[in-house]
Amino acid sequence: MQRYGLDFWSDDNFFIKDGVVKLNYLSSPSLYKIVSNIRKDGLKGPLLLRFPHLIKKQIDKIFSEFSRAFSELDYSGKFNAVYPLKVNQNPNLLNSILEASTSYEYGLEAGSKAELLIAMGSIKDNSPITVNGFKDKELISLGFLSASIGQNITLTIEGINELETIIKMSKDYKILPKIGLRVRLHSLGEGLWAKSGGINSKFGLSATELITAIELLKKHNLLENFTMIHFHIGSQITSISPLKKALREVGNIYGDLIKMGAKNLNTINLGGGLAVEYGQSSKSKVANYSLNEYANDIVFMLQTISKDKRVKEPNIMIESGRYITASHAVLVAPVYELFSHDYQESLLNLKSKNPPLVDELKELYDFIEPSNALEFLHDSLDHLNSLLTLFDLGYIDLQDRSNSEILTHLIIQKAILLLDNTNSNELLKLENQIQEKYLVNFSIFQSMPDFWGLRQNFPVMPLTKLDKKPTRSASLWDITCDSDGEMSFDENNPLYLHDIDIKKEDYFLGFFLVGAYQEVLGMKHNLFEKPTEVTVNIDKNSYRLENLIPANSIYDTLNSLGYDVKNLENRLKKSIKNSKDFKKLDELLKDNSYLRTFINQDDR
Ligand SMILES: *Cc1c(COP(=O)(O)O)cnc(C)c1O
Repeated sequence: MQRYGLDFWSDDNFFIKDGVVKLNYLSSPSLYKIVSNIRKDGLKGPLLLRFPHLIKKQIDKIFSEFSRAFSELDYSGKFNAVYPLKVNQNPNLLNSILEASTSYEYGLEAGSKAELLIAMGSIKDNSPITVNGFKDKELISLGFLSASIGQNITLTIEGINELETIIKMSKDYKILPKIGLRVRLHSLGEGLWAKSGGINSKFGLSATELITAIELLKKHNLLENFTMIHFHIGSQITSISPLKKALREVGNIYGDLIKMGAKNLNTINLGGGLAVEYGQSSKSKVANYSLNEYANDIVFMLQTISKDKRVKEPNIMIESGRYITASHAVLVAPVYELFSHDYQESLLNLKSKNPPLVDELKELYDFIEPSNALEFLHDSLDHLNSLLTLFDLGYIDLQDRSNSEILTHLIIQKAILLLDNTNSNELLKLENQIQEKYLVNFSIFQSMPDFWGLRQNFPVMPLTKLDKKPTRSASLWDITCDSDGEMSFDENNPLYLHDIDIKKEDYFLGFFLVGAYQEVLGMKHNLFEKPTEVTVNIDKNSYRLENLIPANSIYDTLNSLGYDVKNLENRLKKSIKNSKDFKKLDELLKDNSYLRTFINQDDR
């Protein structure tokens, strides 16, 4: 059976049983059941499901792997981590993060004033807050405020001017934030998101600037506040070797800065970048390391350098975000329509006397079986070509042509079902030709902007029928009027879906690992807004649905664009005569913009 690469991307978070995909946790509810439950009151459009247990799993994993590596190597530093808010600032998600990390000193990283306010308002106890990114006076003073109310905050300096502002401001405060310096490494990351490292990177202090910074700090008696150096070689680190190279560089900087008098420098912050496997086959694997190896390598390397440089072993801080949140969210979108559904057997309308080639097609269809499937397939494609030529020359009519197209499609479908090796190159090419276009009730621009912008794939699979072989090579279209809103059939990474009659049953696709970056990067192209979201808390016997936030209504959407919706509505209503239409308009404005699938239509 088709497993949709579950073994490569799901990290055992999901499994397939009785034809549906289930959560591999406690009562193991199926996604289909959860979705049906949420939609039973007529809710329409895509759904974003959040699973807090998957957040907890990732946080636990990080802390336990480092704790294991520390004790195995007898490492004397401390381990710390912060969650970078830019990855996903959603309040329900943040809540799950805070709840999942009560037993750790897991802090928050902010990159803007708004994020810093979130961090200051939600941080617990003595957990760290770190601030990266460009800082003006206002942002820096917010950092001073945080320190003065007793929070454990470190401002990481990206440039000398920021340090100068801190120095000036320090005269007016008794309690100061801790100071971190972001170092500009000559080591580079790899992959799509590798621009954050390297000598030309947007961020960080060069060797010369580091020395200037230390001198400035000394001169103003602030060297004691300098506790951390930071770097970030980029997101989705594919190979451990650039990280090791960067670590060697940073470890040496750490040692030298201590020797220059930075006696409170005790932490190296390695940034984020732990990779997530989005691929649905072994060949699309991106990372050549495990978390275990990542932790071992980091601890071992810093231990070695500290020994060589005769300095104390630094505390290790990481800021991985994608790794923490990607898996927690699943987007479920209903299929709205199949485009080539006009190729059904029931639409075949054979004449009492057909052109000979059409009769032959019918015979191929009737007698195709495993032993002759490939041969019949070739014959049918030849016949179709000839028949189309005959049509162009005026020898057969539109009905004959329709019959030919239907029969050929039926033969191809049957052949795919009969032939076991669906991955043979030949079949893949054919499938590309006869791919079915599934119109999916969601917006790629809103829900998977990284697919649109970076061609980042997200695992996709149907929620049901997993005990039946999918026979349609599929391309997916979203409901925006933009031809970029398409995930086309990829011969290297083919997606097969089931043949379904959408007028008789709902068919849902799950898009996985959408919990990092997609939500806040999503855009309202065609005015499709954030999907309805629900937090799903699974327990021993069942599950609880919490924090249901419906997608914005059309009224709110227009309002937020700056329209005077009341006025718009009144103008329309002036021309509307009957009360039924009046009511319809009212209801429409209250509902979201997504489509209502056939099954979900009731009497609207
Ligand atoms: C974006 C960012 C992160 C998070 O990166 P991930 O790839 O999501 O782990 C961490 N640190 C800094 C400085 C960042 O800019």
